[in-house]
Amino acid sequence: MSSDQAKVEKSEQEWRQELTPAQYDVLRKAGTEPPFSGDYVYNKAAGEYRCAACSAVLFTADTKFDSGTGWPSFTEPAVAEAVELRADNSLLMRRTEVVCRTCGGHLGHVFDDGPGPTGERYCINSLALDFMPGEESSDGGATGAARADATSAE
Ligand SMILES: [Zn+2]
Repeated sequence: MSSDQAKVEKSEQEWRQELTPAQYDVLRKAGTEPPFSGDYVYNKAAGEYRCAACSAVLFTADTKFDSGTGWPSFTEPAVAEAVELRADNSLLMRRTEVVCRTCGGHLGHVFDDGPGPTGERYCINSLALDFMPGEESSDGGATGAARADATSAE
């Protein structure tokens, strides 16, 4: 795991200025948007999902699926190194928090009931994402490589 990747570090005041109040609540305060409220819940367009705070590429439309939970759901990150997983024992539940590795922003949680080969379900807030429309499955090889690393990312 390399740690020489460029990090984005800003003060809370800077984040407050750059993000909308709703985005700030999710990304910096680990909030959760109400289910079925996000812009990307039903988005099926091809493209990639970037961090709403720092623009790092986090997920691609190829791995998005309809989980019925009301939040955008993915079977794996676009690049395993793009996200960091942390144990989250808040709300008396054992969950795994998903954080943007570049800026430390809270994205959502990962659960182990996903439909894909990894068995993972990344449950991500729309507010933490910025969708960039792109071409259909232009880079299938990259997601395959990311999958191999996903289990060692912890
Ligand atoms: Zn970020």
